[in-house]
Amino acid sequence: MSGLTYAVVMLSVMAYITAIVVPSLLRRRCRVCGGRSPMDAPQCRKCGESFPDGM
Ligand SMILES: [Zn+2]
Repeated sequence: MSGLTYAVVMLSVMAYITAIVVPSLLRRRCRVCGGRSPMDAPQCRKCGESFPDGM
């Protein structure tokens, strides 16, 4: 395997991991049910628990 191929594969893996991890970091985790909701959601999408302000 050449160095260029190795670099392309590694970049692809990193991009794939980033695509999986970043969306989860941009979501809020409900303290009641553990469900994830968008950052702009005023309350949990699963159980309806309202998120505290400032988080
Ligand atoms: Zn919830």
